[in-house]
Amino acid sequence: MTTVDSAKKYEELLGPSVSASPYEYGTLFKAENFMARQRAKKRFKLLKALDLKLRQILDGGEKVYFITTGTTITMGERFFVGWVAHLVNMRALVFTSRRILLLHIDLRQRPLEVVSQLPYASITSVKSTWNGLCSIRLLNRKTFNFQSVPSADRKFVVDFLADIVQLTNAPFEHRRGIEHLCPHCYVFVPEHPASCVSCGGRFKSARKAGLLSLLFPGLGGWYLGHRSIALFEMFGTAVLWYFLVFAPLFGVSDPASGPLSLEYWITVGSMLLLTHVIDGMMTHHFGRKGHHPMGQVPLAVSLPPFMDRPKPDLNAANKLKLNRTTPPM
Ligand SMILES: [Zn+2]
Repeated sequence: MTTVDSAKKYEELLGPSVSASPYEYGTLFKAENFMARQRAKKRFKLLKALDLKLRQILDGGEKVYFITTGTTITMGERFFVGWVAHLVNMRALVFTSRRILLLHIDLRQRPLEVVSQLPYASITSVKSTWNGLCSIRLLNRKTFNFQSVPSADRKFVVDFLADIVQLTNAPFEHRRGIEHLCPHCYVFVPEHPASCVSCGGRFKSARKAGLLSLLFPGLGGWYLGHRSIALFEMFGTAVLWYFLVFAPLFGVSDPASGPLSLEYWITVGSMLLLTHVIDGMMTHHFGRKGHHPMGQVPLAVSLPPFMDRPKPDLNAANKLKLNRTTPPM
């Protein structure tokens, strides 16, 4: 029996001898032309990387219809930390029968530790915007933008979500929005406690991360586990300190020039202070964008067998011409 793990290419998962899984291969690997086949190949690679983690997160009977990648970067983040924010915010977006799962991934699309979810019942509308966003409006009046989603995937996601939003008969969720899951047991843990109420697994402190980065930019990122970005930041900060403070102070740069003026030190001091403060604030902000686990997250060695259940009919909305009216705010 073929599984995601044993398959060498996605076509094998569309064949007859596929073992029961939480994945809806027909939608995941729908490929009617050359370009679509290339995208299906990419999706297969992504699914292979996520498979083990996903099967631990999914509830019994929960099915996966589509996966893609995107970021959840905000304007403020882009302004302050640009590409760093892009890396910290890279997510695999997993559309299941109940929710959108957001798994933090690295550049090679391997899953990292932070996992969040967005329940369908909290969504009011979805649209693809002219500037390449997949914009999701929530009942709690927040708007959630997925960026850098491949354009063909964006079209699928918008259509798929529009169906799901119309179809869902779950009660409207006016308060719920993006929810962070415990990285140890994948239960939703509200607010920012020190540990999970359900399994007792401990989380890293956003406050500590922020203070560390205030002390020396990059330290907080290292603590949170964003190691490669943190190294780069620490190197950058060290270079700044060397050329602006240590070299002039110990006369390494130019022995002929006299002692530096007070103005120089005020300018340099404010520049460094600003760098440290911004990095401290941003690290604190990123520390609160999910629960970062303290210690090693154990990977389950064996998983319970997947129990298949009847899947929801995604075309029911079209057949019945169901029209969900705008819910009262
Ligand atoms: Zn837990």
